[in-house]
Formats: sequence, structure tokens, C-alpha cells
Amino acid sequence: MLPLSPVLKTLPTYQPGRPIEEVARELGMPAENIIKVASNENPFGPSPLALAALQKAIAGVNLYPDGNAFYLKQKLAARLGVDPANLVLGNGSNEIIEFVGHALLAPDADIVVSQYCFAIYPIVAKMFGASVTVVPARNFGHDLPAMLRAITPRTRIVFVANPNNPTGTLVPREELIHFVNEVPADVLLVMDEAYLEFLSDPVDLVPLIRLGARKNLILMRTFSKIYGLAGLRIGYGLAAPELIAALEKIRQPFNANLLAQTAALAALDDDEHVRKTRQNNFSGLEFFQQAFRELQLEFVPSFANFILVRVGDGQKVFSAMQQLGVITRPMGGYQLPGWIRISIGTPKENERCLEALKKTCVPV
Ligand SMILES: *Cc1c(COP(=O)(O)O)cnc(C)c1O
Repeated sequence: MLPLSPVLKTLPTYQPGRPIEEVARELGMPAENIIKVASNENPFGPSPLALAALQKAIAGVNLYPDGNAFYLKQKLAARLGVDPANLVLGNGSNEIIEFVGHALLAPDADIVVSQYCFAIYPIVAKMFGASVTVVPARNFGHDLPAMLRAITPRTRIVFVANPNNPTGTLVPREELIHFVNEVPADVLLVMDEAYLEFLSDPVDLVPLIRLGARKNLILMRTFSKIYGLAGLRIGYGLAAPELIAALEKIRQPFNANLLAQTAALAALDDDEHVRKTRQNNFSGLEFFQQAFRELQLEFVPSFANFILVRVGDGQKVFSAMQQLGVITRPMGGYQLPGWIRISIGTPKENERCLEALKKTCVPV
């Protein structure tokens, strides 16, 4: 018997949204007839500028990428008004969650998260043998004052996704600012801003990094959501140079691949794609929220590119909608068995999704 790490016995596995091809094989249905609104991907596809840049770059994949991602860091730094030394790139921002785990967690450590937090935080903590303090949600969102009170001498990291996934909730501005200032200096605050670009008026925490005001803060961003590059796996962390230097030691040399770097660089210039995606998202959210009100389905008002809706038996409705070629996300894994999460699609996808929901959902 291999002496596998004992944490593996109880480590939960992440349940991703089901790929279109997998569902197509299972249902014996052409992939073109299936829509996926399960993983908060960009319904308009990747940025066209990124696609054009990829086409040029693809012939160069015999070479290793620039392990230091000089151009991408330069451009991000200029955009954000920080130094490249404030940036670390990840194979998706998920990898940065793992970096901070490596840097700070051990079996005597603890992380603080909110009920209904992003599933990866507790998984990574448990992987390092750390324990997880879950603070009960307030209206499905973070109860930041309670999270502050939950910090103990063993706490190493507090994770806050804002907007939160899977609930789409946003913490009030004043509460967030107070929280950021109150987290003790020896506890790392991870602010996961994967959905920041979908907000109309986000709290800008970058000045705290730029000015070196909070050495215990890391902001995480991703190209997976609004930029439409989920398949390439690229995201970044923004923090004080001391912390970034530590994470850079943990990072594998070529974690951000050549195509990912190329596409991200080009996507940053694609203001039109971002504008169009954001606009579509605002109207798609309004479409679903209005429809749910009419159908008298409970939902959580969302600030992200997805919406959580209470459908009765979430697993059942998920399966029935899937039979109709609409892949959503069941929420049993998040202790929300009565709910599904729907990503905002194109207007056509939204209509189709709503029709499938109406056919399969018996309101509670
Ligand atoms: C989608 C998402 C991410 C980003 O994941 P990538 O690894 O960058 O694709 C990070 N945090 C949250 C909360 C998310 O929902």
C-alpha cells in the first residue's frame, strides 16, 4: 500500500460544470444543440483581438513561454498603476489560491470563510491539513463583522469573493473598507475579484497595493470570466512585493503558458468586447430577475454573471433541464440542494434556458 497523505481520505473533490461534449455523448444529442450556462463563461466567446493574436502565436508553441511574463506584467502594471513586482500570474486564479496555501497553511493553521463560499478555498485548506472556520452567511452573502470575530491566533487566511460565487452577493462598500482595515496584520486577506468587471461601481482596492498600505492583502483577478479565456487558464494576484516574491518562489517556472500570455495581453486591449459583455450581462440579469419575480421563484439578487434560483429539487431540475440540452449547475455541493445556478448567456440562450426551466420546475 502506498502511504498516501491522510488528508486525501476526506478531501472533497471539486464538481465542475459539465462539458458540452460529455453531455452530448451521454444524451446522444449533437453538441450544437446543447447550451452550457453552468460555469460563468463569456457567452460571446473569447475576445476577437485575443483570437487574432492566438492565431499568430500558435506556430511558436515549440518554445517555452517567458516564465516571467514580461509583457503581460508590464501591461497589467501600467493599467493598474502598480509595479510588475506587485503581480504574480497563475494558471487560472485558482492556482493562486494554492500558492497562498503553500505559503501560509499547515496542519495547525485555520482559514476563515463564509457559508456558501467558493468551493476551492476549503478544498485547498484541507489539502494542507488546515482547518476551516465557516461563518454563517447573512442574506446569502458575507457577514464581514462576524468573519472578523471568527479570526483566532491560528487563522492564517481569510477568503472573501466579492461578488461571491455561487450567490452573486456583494458586500456593502463601507463594510468592506472597514473589514480590509481591520483584518490583523498577521492574517492574509484574499479578496477574490473574479467578477469585479461586471460591477457598475466597484470598490477599488488597488490603491492599497499601489501605496503599500496593506501588506496582508492580495487581490485575485482572472481572464476566465469577462475576457472569455477560461480554457486557457490565466489569472493574477496583486499584492505587496514581499508577498509576491514568496509566491513567485512557489510558482512553477512556466505556469502561465505561451498562448495564455498572448491572449491575455490582447484581451486587455479589447474594450469593445468587455463593454458588450458587461452590457449583455446587465440586461440578462434583469431578464432573469424579472422572469423569476413573475414565476414567483425565490432568487438571490446578483451582481455577477450568474444567478442563483430556488427551484425545489435542484438536482432533479438540473437533470431535467440537461435532458432539454441546457446545462446549469446544481448546488447540492454548496448545501443549497433546492437551488440551481444559471450563468447569464446571450439573449437567445437566456430565453431557451428560461423555457427549459419553466418546463421542468415545480415552484415550491
Ligand atoms: C471563476 C472563479 C475564479 C477564477 O477561476 P480561474 O481559475 O481563474 O478560471 C476564481 N474565484 C471565483 C470565486 C470564481 O468564481
